[in-house]
Amino acid sequence: MTELLAMPEDWSRALAIVAHPDDMEYGAAAAVAHWTGGGREVAYLMVSRGEAGIDTMSPEECAPVRDAEQRASAAVVGVSSVEFLDHKDGVIESGVALRRDLAAAIRRHRPELVITLNRREAFVPGTWNSADHRAVGESVLDAANDAGNRWIFPELADEGLEPWGGVRWVALAASPEARHAVDVTDTFEAGVASLLEHRAYIAALTDEDPETYVRGFLTSFAAAAGERFGTTYATTFELVNF
Ligand SMILES: [Zn+2]
Repeated sequence: MTELLAMPEDWSRALAIVAHPDDMEYGAAAAVAHWTGGGREVAYLMVSRGEAGIDTMSPEECAPVRDAEQRASAAVVGVSSVEFLDHKDGVIESGVALRRDLAAAIRRHRPELVITLNRREAFVPGTWNSADHRAVGESVLDAANDAGNRWIFPELADEGLEPWGGVRWVALAASPEARHAVDVTDTFEAGVASLLEHRAYIAALTDEDPETYVRGFLTSFAAAAGERFGTTYATTFELVNF
């Protein structure tokens, strides 16, 4: 028996909502490649453009670079719909304004599965997760409910966005509370290629050769997860049911 349960596969549309370009690529992209390869539709929604993510570039310079890198990165794993909400990178606030934007997006895309990033205090004990990841994760969970309730943001229906109560799960990638996993043995390389598309970001992050850095990082997590799931490589998720 493995420690991890298989992620549900009986769905056709997913929407990934994360704070920044690159958030999906630090592990979850290989699972996205698995799903799109199996004929499922996955769309990406970035809450910010990650414009505060490169120390050597001003936000004005950085935003279009990261936007382009995210689109290229998504294309590698079979995702063609990439949208940006333009909340301000680094100071994203959870709460009603963000929930309204996310509920609107969920109503437009009508996903059964919503994917986001770990919202807990840390990725591993003794570290601290970013304010943006915590804020977005919490608001995604709230918006999954809001999307189905006609009376929470009634103005959305006035704009033609009818309630969507079809979200069945929110899956949080890289959570220390993960109990579910996807076998990404066959799509691990697509995940590597997807993260490598964040060229400017990675160049500013490390002096290491980009491919050595990306492969090293992704291999360590995917192999550890695979060991727990009984596969060579795996991506883990904390799954919340709706
Ligand atoms: Zn991030």
